[in-house]
Amino acid sequence: MSVKLKLTGLYSVVLLSTLVIMSIASSLMLSFGLVSNLNNSLAEDIIEALNTLSTIPSDEYPQALAELEDKSVSSFFVYDLNSKSLIGDSPSNTVIQETLRGITDWQTGINSHSMNSVDGQSRLYLISLTPGSDKLVVVARDTAYIQAALKTYRNILFMTLPGALIIAAIAGWVLANSSLRQVRVITDTAEKIDPAKLEERIPVKHRDELGRLSGTLNALFDRIHGFIQRQHRFTADASHDLTAPLTGIRSSAEVALMKERTPEEYRQSLENIIGRTDKMQAIVDDLMTLAGLDAGPRPAKSAELELSKLAEEAVNRWQAPAANEDIELTAEIKPGVSIFGEPEQFDRLLDNLLSNAVKYTPPGGKVNLTLAQQDGEIIIRVTDTGIGISPEHLPHLGERFYRIDRRVEGTGLGLSIVQGTAQIYRGGMEVESAPGEGSTFRIILPDGSGS
Ligand code: ADP
Repeated sequence: MSVKLKLTGLYSVVLLSTLVIMSIASSLMLSFGLVSNLNNSLAEDIIEALNTLSTIPSDEYPQALAELEDKSVSSFFVYDLNSKSLIGDSPSNTVIQETLRGITDWQTGINSHSMNSVDGQSRLYLISLTPGSDKLVVVARDTAYIQAALKTYRNILFMTLPGALIIAAIAGWVLANSSLRQVRVITDTAEKIDPAKLEERIPVKHRDELGRLSGTLNALFDRIHGFIQRQHRFTADASHDLTAPLTGIRSSAEVALMKERTPEEYRQSLENIIGRTDKMQAIVDDLMTLAGLDAGPRPAKSAELELSKLAEEAVNRWQAPAANEDIELTAEIKPGVSIFGEPEQFDRLLDNLLSNAVKYTPPGGKVNLTLAQQDGEIIIRVTDTGIGISPEHLPHLGERFYRIDRRVEGTGLGLSIVQGTAQIYRGGMEVESAPGEGSTFRIILPDGSGS
């Protein structure tokens, strides 16, 4: 059964129950109200009759009763319990008489009593003429109008109830239909989505719950789409960057085998092959490192590291290469800074930053590494006076295989590893740079990160 049908059914059943309960309650209240009104009027009439009859002799009763009847819509009688006879003149008196004959145990203690006539058409109110008297004053009033009013009221209810229910069911159906329209739109869009492209989006018209759900799903599709695009680019870039050295290896071998070569020529070919293999190895190493970072932190391989010591060692490692390029490498390392993590990951991060700084700084330049700890953060800063980076490249520096100048040797994976490492320790990478003015790479890690 569809949700729409269930909602409409449920809505109709609830409404029907409510209407039935309300109808029964209102008809009972109407009946109770009419009867109590009647009782009040009868009580007023009987008091008046009592006042009149108690002051006159019994032979004047018929006259007095006729006068009372003239003034009221009730019928008035005096009933003698002993002779079981009725004094008074009214067309309904035979029914009244029959009703009153049914009274066998009138007790003198009972002052007043109300009852229905035997035919159910009248309501009677009786009272002893005087306390202990065997004469009763009786007031009767036709109750047919009550039955008629109740009947009319119930008829109206019976006639309007099915109509109201049908209108409510149609309204419920329309409401459920319009509320669930967005669910259909979501389903249709989801069916149309091609997982390879993921370009379809759910149209959002209203900002209600389903509109918000659609917006959230669209944002999810955007993220998955972005991820798939990055994966495609990554695979294409990785294949491209691995194909170049592979082609070089093959052509070196082919050229060497074309004819008989001197041992020196063979040596050159083999060295060429080794050089290209090293390039492939570097790419594969970086890819493996990135795959490791993608898997997230590995607490089992982590330990409390003295980051200050790792930074000092990295600076020492890069002193000679920097000196070879006539670059002054300095450091300001706060002692005793420690972090919970994998030492290889931090060695790699520091090496990548220092190698870039040395690589992109011309001879005579300066490179500085600072390790600081402040405001609950550990900051690794590598500044150089090198060639700098144009603003349009800055947002892409963490992307895999992103290289600004493809003529310069490199894999384009170094900064992705730096950024990926910072991120798994819940930190980030910031870059400040301008062409010709050098660069500053800042790695900010929460203090105690990874622990
Ligand atoms: P690569 O292996 O090419 O150095 P990276 O991911 O380390 O790859 O760097 C990406 C790009 O960012 C480099 O191609 C380079 O153009 C630029 N870059 C990185 N570090 C610096 C720096 N210190 N100064 C200037 N440019 C830099």
